[in-house]
Amino acid sequence: MPIATTNPATGQVLKTYDAMSDEQIDAAIERADLAFRQLRETTIAQRARWLTAAADRLDAERDETARLMTTEMGKTYAAAKAEVTKCATACRFYADNAPAMLADEPADAVAVKARRAYVRYQPIGPVLAVMPWNFPLWQVMRFAAPALMAGNTGLLKHASNVPQTALYLEDLFRRAGFPEGAFTTLLVGSDAVDRILSDPRVRAATLTGSEPAGRSIAQIAGREIKKTVLELGGSDPFVVMPSADLDTAAEVATTARCQNNGQSCIAAKRFIVHTDVFDAFAEKFAARMAALRVGDPMDDGTDVGPLASERGRDEVHAQVTDAVDQGATVLCGGEKPAGDGWYYPPTVVTDLRPEMRMWSEEVFGPVAGLYRVGSYDEAIEVANGTSFGLGSNAWTNDPAEQERFAVDLDAGNVFINGMTTSYPELPFGGVKNSGYGRELSAAGMREFCNTKTVWIGEGKAGAGAGAHSE
Ligand code: NAP
Repeated sequence: MPIATTNPATGQVLKTYDAMSDEQIDAAIERADLAFRQLRETTIAQRARWLTAAADRLDAERDETARLMTTEMGKTYAAAKAEVTKCATACRFYADNAPAMLADEPADAVAVKARRAYVRYQPIGPVLAVMPWNFPLWQVMRFAAPALMAGNTGLLKHASNVPQTALYLEDLFRRAGFPEGAFTTLLVGSDAVDRILSDPRVRAATLTGSEPAGRSIAQIAGREIKKTVLELGGSDPFVVMPSADLDTAAEVATTARCQNNGQSCIAAKRFIVHTDVFDAFAEKFAARMAALRVGDPMDDGTDVGPLASERGRDEVHAQVTDAVDQGATVLCGGEKPAGDGWYYPPTVVTDLRPEMRMWSEEVFGPVAGLYRVGSYDEAIEVANGTSFGLGSNAWTNDPAEQERFAVDLDAGNVFINGMTTSYPELPFGGVKNSGYGRELSAAGMREFCNTKTVWIGEGKAGAGAGAHSE
């Protein structure tokens, strides 16, 4: 893929970049390694001051940064502004909470025959972050804020279609005060990832992206025995049961499917509705989807902007066409518009069957699949009947059913009567082919820490030293 800014609202190429040479990559890794030695000697309080300075700059530069994101990948300007604010909030969260998350954890010294024993969380070194374009600032920040607070350094290989946002991030951390090399953007294609991750100075990798990209990175990391966190695709279920408030469920379903122009890993994608309320829900949902305004992402009145690439739009339309050709019913949308820009209308498709692509594939656009089920058990079977397991939603006002969904949905998170979203306070990640490891919260910060056991004995004969070993 060329490294370029192309405006999805017009299809116009605005800026192109040459990929970095092997020598430039090598120099960047060297700087990241040197910066790590410097950063790990700084105090948490110092790093918190730098991260807070980054948050202040994000707030001050919100509108220009949001405009840049909208220009590079087409999200609405309103959504882009909210994304910048969310990043600032996450920086402050980690600046405030890292001292507690990274504090030594005392162990029971008597039980382990020590004078003192504790667990210490230490940084591991330069971490490669391979990131997607759909939340070009937030996806990076949820890695970078905890990693830098822990004392690691970051090497960012961002998606090739958001190079200016990638360069902004490097500049942001430098201006906030982090040492040169603490956070570096590598303008490279995915073909450079093997070389970078194989470098002994690079200690780990995190990837947010598609399943094929995850498999590729996991293979390299396996060969090199390096830790990875993988945040991959999803086809989240949104189950609606008879006791649900249907108006609220339909309203939230529309946002859940179409936020970020339908290009979110945790968007609800499969709407699984109990037959008792299927027709009523389908009518309300399709009416809301059809009423969304599709248009210029910079306009205040726009709900859904263009998809990020022509290839992405063609793929979404091919998935819809495949279902329709095999007998699915379109309740709204489904037509590819003519004209400039990679727009696609909010679409609801029902009468889906397992042989259709939409049944098993992730649809990365504003297209909802609607499934009719006759019971709780059938709802769970359809919801879990996918290779993905990222987020999940269930709508029910029956307390016993709420508890059952929390246990039975096979996903990294379960949101009952609400829309899946990410918070710095809560762990985020998936199971099955949606990946492994967690981002956010203390769990995310500790993914790239050495959880080091420290055991200190009496230093005298008979006081437990070397009692036995494995
Ligand atoms: P993608 O093609 O996998 O790209 C993501 C990143 O991986 C980009 O930087 C890309 O570089 C790089 N990449 C692609 N193939 C690679 C390979 N073989 N080896 C190494 N790096 C590779 O994904 P996308 O289409 O941009 O993003 C959409 C996908 O991301 C969806 O499946 C979505 O669900 C998922 N996603 C998941 C989460 C989550 O938290 N679980 C969040 C957001 C998105 P280039 O741009 O240079 O190709």
